[in-house]
Amino acid sequence: MQTHIRRSGWAAFVFIILSFAGYPADGYENFKVAIYAPAQNVQMMGEPNWLKENWEIISRQVKVDKIYLETHRDVILVDEETITEAKKFFESKGIEVAGGITYTIMESNRFKTFCYSNPEQRRRAREVAEYTARLFDEVILDDFFFTNCKCKSCIKAKGKKSWTQFRLGLMDKAARELIVKPAKAVNPKVKMVIKYPNWYEHFQGCGYNLETEPKIFDGIYTGTETRDPVYTDQHLQQYQSYLIMRYLENIKPGGNGGGWVDTGAIQYMDRYAEQLWLTLFAGAREITLFNFGRMLQPIPQELRADWHSTKTSFDFDEMMQPIKLEDGTTVKPSTMARAAGYALEQVDKFLGKLGKPIGVKSYKPYHSTGEDFLHNYLGMCGIAMDLEPEFPADANIIFLAESAKFDGRIVDKIKGQLTAGKCVMITSGLLKALQGKGIEDIVELRCTDKKAVINQFWRRRAFWGRRGAIQESSSNIIIPEIKYLTNDSWEEISCLTSGNGYPILHSADYANSKLYVLTIPDNFGDLYNFPAEVLTQIKEVLMKDLYVRVDGPSQVAIFVYDNDTFIVESFLPESVEVKIVTDKRISKLRDVLSGEELSGEEPPEPPMRGRRRQIQESDKLVFDIKIKPHSYRVFQCE
Ligand SMILES: [Zn+2]
Repeated sequence: MQTHIRRSGWAAFVFIILSFAGYPADGYENFKVAIYAPAQNVQMMGEPNWLKENWEIISRQVKVDKIYLETHRDVILVDEETITEAKKFFESKGIEVAGGITYTIMESNRFKTFCYSNPEQRRRAREVAEYTARLFDEVILDDFFFTNCKCKSCIKAKGKKSWTQFRLGLMDKAARELIVKPAKAVNPKVKMVIKYPNWYEHFQGCGYNLETEPKIFDGIYTGTETRDPVYTDQHLQQYQSYLIMRYLENIKPGGNGGGWVDTGAIQYMDRYAEQLWLTLFAGAREITLFNFGRMLQPIPQELRADWHSTKTSFDFDEMMQPIKLEDGTTVKPSTMARAAGYALEQVDKFLGKLGKPIGVKSYKPYHSTGEDFLHNYLGMCGIAMDLEPEFPADANIIFLAESAKFDGRIVDKIKGQLTAGKCVMITSGLLKALQGKGIEDIVELRCTDKKAVINQFWRRRAFWGRRGAIQESSSNIIIPEIKYLTNDSWEEISCLTSGNGYPILHSADYANSKLYVLTIPDNFGDLYNFPAEVLTQIKEVLMKDLYVRVDGPSQVAIFVYDNDTFIVESFLPESVEVKIVTDKRISKLRDVLSGEELSGEEPPEPPMRGRRRQIQESDKLVFDIKIKPHSYRVFQCE
């Protein structure tokens, strides 16, 4: 995917030229950093002393390459003189300047956006685009270019279409006619960029059109803010900061400009850093810090967690140490800008060593929904995921959640993979959706409306040399009951309950390969309660083509790259011991940050299966490692 901005060879030469032209010479090695200034902040920049003082506070704590100056938000349109003066100020500091627009009427009123059926508001939308394009050669739309309006005009215009169909068409047209075309008419050079928010499963409902807009706009941008997975309304899992970057990069390869993180709704400081890190682990070229005002907020001491005294990846006390500036002076960290700066410095040390992110290919058709955000839960269970908008027929194994039902030819495509000797894993949700729609042509399975409450798992094969044994989950889990025909398909992992049992992972032979069905708990969060051994068996199937995996409890994720580098990151509040399992060609692991070398061991003796002893030698090596709370380790395979 992205080539990181490596300053070597020609790149170094170009960099030197740019340095003389005022590009900040002391930026980060592997990515650019931008700060977004909403209209309210830009208005305040009209006061030169305010701007000078506050810019100094920010730029001494985090290295900034670029600033977005917003012209419009809610009822505010910043006057041209203020914008021009602010532009001059930043340009004189060697900072790249771009414009921004937020198409809201009143953000505080449930994100009230424009009505694109209303002639007056359409005119206003176009004028704002023209005004901004006249002032800047690059303009980004903050993530409110959607509509949730249900006024009488919208109801009438919708007609017999669904709201989704109506809004997809409405916003496609608005993007072309009111934003991009008028902007290019006043400034043919302008680069128009649309930034998408974090609720990607639901975009279509409010008219965000991921199928057409990335082609209409010159660039796209990704909201990677996941905030707190428990206490925020959306409950977005941490892994999403990585996966949504990948999904949007796969939608517009080379055109996903970067990731965007804010400081909101965090319970401990690591959560802020994790969002920045995962965005960069996905290969972001640029990070946008939202926003100028919030970068000035004092560092909240209550975000220092207990584990910060144990030298975790985000070391709160180290962050608070005075910063040495290039002119020899020191600055005492004071505001959130330092949290960003410190977090970014940590990962800039090694990002250049990583290759292209790789993972288990999963397919989420455009405008699809179903088992919303499930892929991120699997990512949190240690399964390296990759999400694509087109069916990834080349992959040896594909994972399909319920959202794949939006492809009317999905059953044929699954058959095509199996006939070609490739595996497919579908979820219980997709099985249910495809019942009566052709899936029975592959295997006669029924995902019933009955539920089972379970806490015991029975693994058919032994784990780490032990015979098959019962594993217990840490809490009761509600699952759908899947029924199958004896000797026609097979339980790979079962659950046991009151003398009964159901498949957790099920397999069916078809043509030259196997279809797997993974039972998804009613509450996806219960995947985190699956015993580590059960997660391992799922990974053995799903991750068989990757050279490395991590075995351990959930909430320890792995990020894998195509050049024998990988990152293991724990989101747990306590230290954890995990096993890294690699292909045998890899004899050693080197910890990129500490330099430590690790040797692997052969897995324990292969298990007995029935009466026949499996005699083939394992093709894996196992490395035992420990990870501190909310910390990552980076490895190079040797
Ligand atoms: Zn309306």
